[in-house]
Amino acid sequence: MSIQSNLNTIKSTLPEHVTLVAVSKTKPVSDLMEAYEAGQRIFGENKIQEMTDKYEEMPKDIQWHMIGHVQSNKVKFMAPFVSLIHGVDSLNLLQQINKHALKNNRIIDCLLQIYIAEEESKFGLDENELNELLSSPEFKEMKNIRILGLMGMATFTEDQNQIKKEFTHLKSIFDSIKKLKAENCDLKTISMGMSGDYKLAIECGSTMVRIGSSIFGGR
Ligand SMILES: *Cc1c(COP(=O)(O)O)cnc(C)c1O
Repeated sequence: MSIQSNLNTIKSTLPEHVTLVAVSKTKPVSDLMEAYEAGQRIFGENKIQEMTDKYEEMPKDIQWHMIGHVQSNKVKFMAPFVSLIHGVDSLNLLQQINKHALKNNRIIDCLLQIYIAEEESKFGLDENELNELLSSPEFKEMKNIRILGLMGMATFTEDQNQIKKEFTHLKSIFDSIKKLKAENCDLKTISMGMSGDYKLAIECGSTMVRIGSSIFGGR
């Protein structure tokens, strides 16, 4: 199957309120261009260097999403162009993003990553840490970031009930904060679901799915 037909098949199954992030990490620009020519404009990468290289080579109407873990000292490289940062998991990182957004005279959209899996390896905040962050005075002062919602990754397992439980948990955390009124919040996005579990994620309330291998093939 070609990238274009994979993309069209997936897009035809997505409800209108769900945004597709085409996860293109490790794939060559020629593959991304195939998706671009099929109309895809949102691409997700997990390494800042790779995303920056692709940004420089590719058309400028692409929205670049950083979906990987972000090291504070690399924020400056993507601050001029990144469209959405999914994996924000600390106040310190958010402050770095705010600082570099200000230097670039922009507001950078972010999602806060929540830890929902039963794996030690996944990053993210727990519910208490999330509430602490959102109610901190430091957060309220940040004017060059905007929090659009939450992101989470389920445990890597075949157990559909487990995955469903974790997605439902993320949705309930989102519902508990979504009425928050703050200048730097516009809570409307739940980024959850990948190639193997995006249908379940959408059933559980996802509004943004991050799909790689089902579009571009295995890595
Ligand atoms: C790689 C990756 C994806 C996409 O995974 P696929 O299984 O290839 O669809 C989604 N989200 C994150 C955070 C990733 O790192």
